[in-house]
Amino acid sequence: MQWEGGAESSNVEDRRGRGGGVALAGGGAVGLLALVIYLFTGVNIGGPQGPGGGGPGVEQGQGEAPPANDRTKRFVATVLNFTEEVWKDEFNNRANGYGKRYAEPKLVLFSNAVQTGCGNAPSAVGPFYCPADETVYLDPTFFEELERKLGGSKAEFSQAYVIAHEVGHHVQNQLGYSRRVDEHRGKRDEKQFSVRLELQADYLAGVWANKGQKKFNFIEPGDVESAITSAKAIGDDRIQKRSRGWVSPEGFTHGTSAQRVKYFSEGLKTGDARKERLERFFTAEYDPRRGELVD
Ligand SMILES: [Zn+2]
Repeated sequence: MQWEGGAESSNVEDRRGRGGGVALAGGGAVGLLALVIYLFTGVNIGGPQGPGGGGPGVEQGQGEAPPANDRTKRFVATVLNFTEEVWKDEFNNRANGYGKRYAEPKLVLFSNAVQTGCGNAPSAVGPFYCPADETVYLDPTFFEELERKLGGSKAEFSQAYVIAHEVGHHVQNQLGYSRRVDEHRGKRDEKQFSVRLELQADYLAGVWANKGQKKFNFIEPGDVESAITSAKAIGDDRIQKRSRGWVSPEGFTHGTSAQRVKYFSEGLKTGDARKERLERFFTAEYDPRRGELVD
């Protein structure tokens, strides 16, 4: 991925390696459970109580401090700027029919654990978006973990795809799709609406790559393939296979690997951000047996 020398977003806050070791009480997890966060993968790390539930609590800020010439931060800030430029344009494009301006999200880099508007979260939940404070939270060590655990690519474009997916959740929040899914929380069809939202976020990441490429020309040979390899590795079916040895459609929340690849690829190919295309993620038929949209 060609990103060096690009403008950096001013919306990145670096909380890595923060001293003090603020103890986050286990009870803080209640806040996390009370509000919905949008994860990148369906990895369940928290046991029955969810992320951060129970236990003696997690310590904030005990990870390594960032190095002086911080390539990771420059990379994240540059990619976030790419997303800002693309989504600002798309919201201003009247043909898309959004009828509002884009409000930029914040992005917090953290290590080990973080306090958010959605409660406290350990790194183990992976990258996520908190709609309450309109912020993407990212512990960059996830990028290394993704490669080690899931066999995903370490390539930078794959990392940009992770950020673009989370920013996609912010776009959904701005456009009112998140609220529509919230109406189904705790109901029988909760899972299918979660899958609809997650696949739409992958599609939005693809749209971002299409429009970003036209503006910034950042895709290099092999990049798209590496992002698709990552998408394949993080579908609910693959993650469940690796973590439990079998695939259970009931547990699907992000969509199957095949569908994550399908919708990221379609967004990348068409760059179609019109509201009527985005609506289809909510009107398309859903096959509960396969955990897939029929579209
Ligand atoms: Zn997601």
